[in-house]
Amino acid sequence: MLQDIRPLDLPGSGDGAPIIIAGPCSAETEAQTLETAQALSAQGVKMFRAGIWKPRTVPGGFEGVGDVGLAWLKLVKRETGMLTATEVATVDHVNAALEAGVDILWVGARTSANPFAMQDIADRLKGHGEVTVLVKNPVNPDLDLWVGALQRLLRAGITRLGAVHRGFSTAGTHIYRNDPQWHIPFELRRMAQSMTILCDPSHIGGRREYVEPLSQQALDMGFDGLMVECHCNPGEALSDSAQQITPETLGAIKRRLVVRSSTPVEDELALLRQQIDDCDHELLAVLTRRMKVSRQIGRYKKANNLRVVQPSRYQDVMRARQEEGERLGLAADFTQRVMQAIHEESVRQQLDLFD
Ligand code: PEP
Ligand code: MN
Repeated sequence: MLQDIRPLDLPGSGDGAPIIIAGPCSAETEAQTLETAQALSAQGVKMFRAGIWKPRTVPGGFEGVGDVGLAWLKLVKRETGMLTATEVATVDHVNAALEAGVDILWVGARTSANPFAMQDIADRLKGHGEVTVLVKNPVNPDLDLWVGALQRLLRAGITRLGAVHRGFSTAGTHIYRNDPQWHIPFELRRMAQSMTILCDPSHIGGRREYVEPLSQQALDMGFDGLMVECHCNPGEALSDSAQQITPETLGAIKRRLVVRSSTPVEDELALLRQQIDDCDHELLAVLTRRMKVSRQIGRYKKANNLRVVQPSRYQDVMRARQEEGERLGLAADFTQRVMQAIHEESVRQQLDLFD
């Protein structure tokens, strides 16, 4: 049950600050990896991401440095104390990442779209309840596929689970690289209320200038944190160059991000809604009582051969109620409409007695 998934206790969570995982799209060299990590650490970032095996859409591009990059992640951990994260797409990747002591594994969008690959990864992770696994949404906007990927891991005993929203591929050109379709992560949130759900503004936006506004939007919409692509020299990055920002830019964004608290507002809203419910119960009880009296009057009218509708009484009642309503702050036409509806129902109930 996704509802049973608890929030991840990652650094930065729990104290009001959003969870931030940041680092390059790809680890390219030892120097680039370490320099980026150190600069991020100086900005207070506690978790470092770097792709080692890159799932490229077309062959021939930079496909990641492979296993050698794992040694660089170890170095990052030793030098900065940051937790490390990398993408796994195959059982071999999982083996190598576990062996290298990577703290957080994430499953990318192309892999979460593939149930066979997901099952292989889940089977391999059985018995590794200590690892943290994040599942990015599948490339196509299919909530069931995303949920299915999480369920396969959950069934394998992986409870340290979270999700990352990175938008969806769509045909045609849009301002964003990957269409956010926010309703899909919202629906996931409904199904897994306590699960940690991060937003990846880098892959949604596809351009560095969108990172900040998308990050703020994500926090405002209740995401628990962000996964952001950062590179010490973004313009020279071997993959996703246009969307990467420097660690310093991330630091500045981090300082500007407004974290709005949800709980007090929700508590207040819940209390107010409770008051509305109470009012409605009272209204219904009063209406029921009124109809009962109305039927008694109907029986009296029948016994005494009186007409059901007595126009002068109706006009007196209407005028008196509208005046009283206005004194209490209710619009006269509103009181009129409500009283008319009530009167109509009273008449209907009395006429029933005359059948
Ligand atoms: C990435 O995080 O670098 C990556 C490949 O992401 P996605 O799976 O979201 O495309
Ligand atoms: Mn990338």
